[in-house]
Amino acid sequence: MSQVLEKDFSNIKITMDTSPYMMCLTKNESVVYVNTKWLSFTGRSLSEETGEGRFNYIHKEDINHVKEVIGFFLKTQKPYRVQYRLLHVDGKYKWVVEDGRLFLSPDGTSLGFVSKCVDIDKEKKTEIKLHAAETKYRRLFETAHDGILILDAENAEITDVNPFLKELLGYSKEEFLGKKLWEVGPFKNIHKSKELFKTLQETGYVRYEDMPLETKSGELVAVEFVSNAYMAGATRVMQCNIRDIRERKRAEMVDSALTTLKQEKQKNAFIADVTHELRTPLAIIKGNVELALRAKNVTNKKTFQAINLEINHLTKMIIDLAVLTTDNQIVQRKINLEKINLSALLSDVVRRLQVVSASREISISLNMPNGVITSGDASYLEKLFSNIISNGIYYGKKNGFIQVDGRVEKKQIIVTVTDNGIGISEDELPNIFERFYRTFHAREVHDGGTGLGLAMSKWIVEAHLGTITVASEMHKGTTFTISLPLFS
Ligand code: ADP
Repeated sequence: MSQVLEKDFSNIKITMDTSPYMMCLTKNESVVYVNTKWLSFTGRSLSEETGEGRFNYIHKEDINHVKEVIGFFLKTQKPYRVQYRLLHVDGKYKWVVEDGRLFLSPDGTSLGFVSKCVDIDKEKKTEIKLHAAETKYRRLFETAHDGILILDAENAEITDVNPFLKELLGYSKEEFLGKKLWEVGPFKNIHKSKELFKTLQETGYVRYEDMPLETKSGELVAVEFVSNAYMAGATRVMQCNIRDIRERKRAEMVDSALTTLKQEKQKNAFIADVTHELRTPLAIIKGNVELALRAKNVTNKKTFQAINLEINHLTKMIIDLAVLTTDNQIVQRKINLEKINLSALLSDVVRRLQVVSASREISISLNMPNGVITSGDASYLEKLFSNIISNGIYYGKKNGFIQVDGRVEKKQIIVTVTDNGIGISEDELPNIFERFYRTFHAREVHDGGTGLGLAMSKWIVEAHLGTITVASEMHKGTTFTISLPLFS
């Protein structure tokens, strides 16, 4: 090294050591000197870093790129900038950015090149993460099975459109980009689109459950349109998600048609049941009237008693049917809710029915705390309990019993009605609350039933926000459990 170079070299070493940056002096592709800042970053000795050494500590994925940039610099001598990962004292690679330039002596001779390095690890990692997130978003955007449209929130210009939407509406990317929302075919309903954009600007959110869009070929596509405004960096954008709901709408239409069909079928079945049930008493009446007409003595008492019985039966059926077929909400409004002393109401019902049960030699006992108050309609509640207890009498055994118990539990009054009558088979049990359903055995022991009492009872309980359940065993007996809310 000449005298001049020696002096210049020691000067540059001093400058490098006082720099706040990591610095490196390279000549002929071989490192001559790195400053103390550099050594403290890498934790290595000067001899390890000089010569060919420093390339050993660059991440193997970055080394070719660094060599390429430096090679280009050596050819052109133009300042360069390169980013790479350098092995840090903590044993991990850290991102640095290196700026290099030619280093000339005062007389203009090249002394090699000097480079300045800055630790950009944090920024670089954030950038990499951001880039990964962007790539992920881009992938979602490109492959989404919903149409996505991005608008500039300031002027409604379309800045991006995904492949799904292009395909759905039949327009090319060029036909969307740079246009205002209402300048593109499907959104050409200017008034509506402008309105949409205005709401979106004001509230940041717009949703249309079912919006028809016209494709380029003139087909109408039903879509769900949801749009949100948000900040993307410094600009406010609007993302519109457009979902093709044709399939869903078709399925809903099929569903609703099936429901209507089912309701229609139920109605028809009900009408068939009613006609069937009304036919029997009418036939009996007709038979008796014919008999009476043929008889010499038309005022035959027995005939008219039979007619009367059937008329009572028909009346009972028609009264229950009238309630059961009225729209629930209308009847609910008819129900007169007031403070009811259920203990008193039940002992009244039991007393009245004891007259009937005594004739069948069935005892009824009531065990209920005094003064239990519920809110309800007295006439309906009386009907409910007299239905359930009467069934215990009709389907009870001679010398049997009916036990009515009441207890208060968690803001509910629970009443159980237990008999030791004919019972209900396991198969038939799930059906007994259905209109007109009567068990096989019941038809044999009591022919005056209509099969409407329990349907009516269930209806009354539910209108009072309560529940009714049944447990039974064939030939052993049945327990009905009714739960009603206490007055509050
Ligand atoms: P019904 O007018 O026939 O008594 P319900 O609707 O009151 O009509 O009862 C429906 C059917 O449930 C009855 O026909 C009977 O088969 C059965 N059932 C109801 N209560 C009892 C009971 N306590 N014991 C046995 N079977 C019962």
